[in-house]
Amino acid sequence: MKTVLHWFRRDLRVSDNTSLWQAYTESDRLVAVFCWDDAILQSPDVGPARVNFLLRSLEALSRNLESLGHQLVVRRGPPEEVIPALAREVGAISVFTNRDYEPYAMARDERVRAALKERSIGFRSHKDAVIHEEREVLTRTGTVYSVFTPYSRAWKTLPVAGPLPRIGAPKSPVPSPPSLPLPNGGEALGHPLAQSLFPAGERAGLQALEAFLEERVFGYDHGRNVLETIPGTSQLSPHLRFGTVGIRTVLDRLQTARSRATTATRLKSCDTWLSELIWREFYIQILTNHPRVAAGAFRPEYNQIQWQGTDGQFDAWCAGQTGYPIVDAAMRCLNATGWMHNRLRMIVAMFLTKDLMISWQRGERYFMRTLVDGDLAANNGGWQWSAGCGTDAAPYFRIFNPVTQGEKCDPDGAFVRQWVPELADAPSDSIQEPWARPLLLARSGYVPPIVQHDVQRGRCLAMFKAVKGAAAPSIPNEETHE
Ligand SMILES: Cc1cc2nc3c(=O)[nH]c(=O)nc-3n(C[C@H](O)[C@H](O)[C@H](O)COP(=O)(O)OP(=O)(O)OC[C@H]3O[C@@H](n4cnc5c(N)ncnc54)[C@H](O)[C@@H]3O)c2cc1C
Repeated sequence: MKTVLHWFRRDLRVSDNTSLWQAYTESDRLVAVFCWDDAILQSPDVGPARVNFLLRSLEALSRNLESLGHQLVVRRGPPEEVIPALAREVGAISVFTNRDYEPYAMARDERVRAALKERSIGFRSHKDAVIHEEREVLTRTGTVYSVFTPYSRAWKTLPVAGPLPRIGAPKSPVPSPPSLPLPNGGEALGHPLAQSLFPAGERAGLQALEAFLEERVFGYDHGRNVLETIPGTSQLSPHLRFGTVGIRTVLDRLQTARSRATTATRLKSCDTWLSELIWREFYIQILTNHPRVAAGAFRPEYNQIQWQGTDGQFDAWCAGQTGYPIVDAAMRCLNATGWMHNRLRMIVAMFLTKDLMISWQRGERYFMRTLVDGDLAANNGGWQWSAGCGTDAAPYFRIFNPVTQGEKCDPDGAFVRQWVPELADAPSDSIQEPWARPLLLARSGYVPPIVQHDVQRGRCLAMFKAVKGAAAPSIPNEETHE
């Protein structure tokens, strides 16, 4: 009787799951496990929004497995001890899992592999979270890309695998090893759980995908740049982060939606959305090929920057008290929900690094702790792009103006009014710069701006030039993420 253990990590689903499917098809008995790793739970990068989403996704996964006749075994402890012990307990000949590309995860998996080897148990990891891995999209000379556009072009020439089926019922009676109950609340995990707006789990992931691809994807080109009551983006990132939806399924359904696009504009929107999914893989391959980005700038000269902002300014940014309405609304939304729209992420990241002149790494850490979709590769890429020190980053001299950015993405001020109630009565034409109406500002109780954008812009350019040693070429000072 061949028993294989599947170890769940960032792939919390029963359909289109490479390792789970292989473990199921190649074995007589499948045992599925999730292991709480305290090194992750106690990391300063982990916070309640993500633990909440994870816990609820595990509950859904456990129910889904149960409905198919399988059990989710839950254990807690160092994986290099827990996984080999369970494998031995159930008589597994091998442990299968899906690859996780973060430096901590890769080192952990090597420890688990070594511990299993000592017990003569196999370990096999599978590609699952991405369509193409870090050494699969290469230049003609066999090197890896560090610029998105050619990477994306090459990515699109490669074949895309289709989704895998859902696993079936057990083929023979399965052992039912002892399992920890999933905690009711996050206290037991060190994270009193925040309220979350995100339905979690596999069904919710698929529903979010279907809902987006039904119609919203066709307006994505516009929707991704504005804040509307019905979100113009998919909000799939927590699901992609935890694997409650599979990337092959996403691309398969996108292809079907694309075939329904009746105009060039609709077609272009589908392709723009595909580009965003490729950005995700681009940043994963950057992290995997250059793990040093987790600790410093992709362009090392930028590690020399003498950041000048104060702790008080950082605290004001975190709390949404900078006096710049779009920045404060975005940060308050993040703090309350664990979510922030991509355009707002760029605006607040630019503001922290360019207006407050505070290190992108402090912002990166704060985002990791608060975001429901916090993901090392995408977050690091986004921060380095915004700070101007990353791969094909917005150059450092490209500085967003928070007022005009606010006017573009929140033209009538509805988003600001929702999150900055002090400005609930402000007229649309001045809601993004309430200081232009001193009486209104005084009456509102809203904070005056903690810095002046025009002044900071000049100081920031000088700060960057000091390490760059070159005058900034003359280009428009605002551009959007391609
Ligand atoms: C400073 C900063 C920090 C960020 N931190 C994260 C993070 O921690 N986790 C995260 O998933 N994304 C991060 N992003 C990227 C992006 O903001 C989110 O992926 C996006 O807002 C998620 O919303 P959505 O699912 O509706 O995206 P959609 O617009 O519907 O895009 C579909 C999917 O493509 C991927 N994607 C989209 N844009 C990007 C991008 N620029 N980089 C990488 N992948 C992308 C995501 O998986 C997303 O779910 C960050 C961006 C910035 C500027």
